[in-house]
Amino acid sequence: MSRVRHDWTKQEILDIYNKPMMELLYEAASIHREHHDPNTVQVSTLLSIKTGGCPEDCGYCPQAARYHTDIEGNDLMSVSHVKAQALRAKASGSSRVCMGAAWRNVKDGPEFDQVLEMVRTINKLDMEVCCTLGMLTENQAQRLAEAGLYAYNHNLDTSEDYYKDIISTRAFQDRLDTIDNVRKSNVTVCSGGIIGMGEKLEDRAGMLVALASLNPQPESVPINALVAVEGTPMEDIEPIAIWDMIRMVATTRIVMPETQVRLSAGRTQMSREGQAMCFFAGANSIFAGDKLLTTPNPDVNEDMEMFRLLGLNPQKPFTKISQPKTVEASESKFQSLNEKPKWSRPGHTIERNELAKQKAKLTD
Ligand code: SF4
Repeated sequence: MSRVRHDWTKQEILDIYNKPMMELLYEAASIHREHHDPNTVQVSTLLSIKTGGCPEDCGYCPQAARYHTDIEGNDLMSVSHVKAQALRAKASGSSRVCMGAAWRNVKDGPEFDQVLEMVRTINKLDMEVCCTLGMLTENQAQRLAEAGLYAYNHNLDTSEDYYKDIISTRAFQDRLDTIDNVRKSNVTVCSGGIIGMGEKLEDRAGMLVALASLNPQPESVPINALVAVEGTPMEDIEPIAIWDMIRMVATTRIVMPETQVRLSAGRTQMSREGQAMCFFAGANSIFAGDKLLTTPNPDVNEDMEMFRLLGLNPQKPFTKISQPKTVEASESKFQSLNEKPKWSRPGHTIERNELAKQKAKLTD
């Protein structure tokens, strides 16, 4: 059985990534079979519970308020709306709901209380609940854990070196600190990144070094391909070749053998054959539904047809880790601390982000 290592070097990971394709696929598929059922793939649904108007400047993101995109902003969804969407997702085969809010960080108050209620509601539907709400304190992580949160998503996005070319409103270390706060609770960690943002292969390897060095490694690692959205600083970047995605998935599987590797954004640009190779290389989760937060995603019926063709079965919820118990708000041990944490704000200039911002001012 291949063991979990936390001491991978960038060069070792690059050597794996650059192996001849057939060798890479064989090694990744063999490790995948040691740790996972190769015919089971988790289907998750991503819900944007608060869309747009984000103060951050992530160069890939159409939800950043400073860029001019076609995204329609929405206030925080009601708990009943979220419940209805979760029930629909469950009926179409999803075992996990991931709720995303376009926030820089979580703030204690009525909106966070509403999110905690959403977590309680979905956990009681016997689905895995994940949230991605931005930076988070330890107390906030504990409150989410009590509500029954299964996973918290906080992507590293790319390598530490390339991070400062993508985002200027927070630092790579803030990401690591939030993941650390999540780890102090019983909530599992979901953290991955995006390829095809103009990074070097060394950056892809650097991101995997950072993720694999975490101890324990994240239970879930989403691998996204950039979906270039008009109005964002990355609008003109060409999509990556499917081979890059297959290599990235395979390498992730080899360096993080026990992790759930998620084939995430960018699937509309991939053929079924390409996705099948990603599953063979170790991807064992997809996001279902026609939208991934705000970018297009294959229709759920198309995905079920692909599962039928490939003989894949949707994974049942709580297969890896048992269901967390929901503590009601009235019995909670962790109350709001009204913290005002000092997350960093490097504020350096990223030329393409500045250009997109100027362009948006002229358009608005
Ligand atoms: S990726 Fe998240 S934090 Fe960054 S701009 Fe988009 S919504 Fe905001």
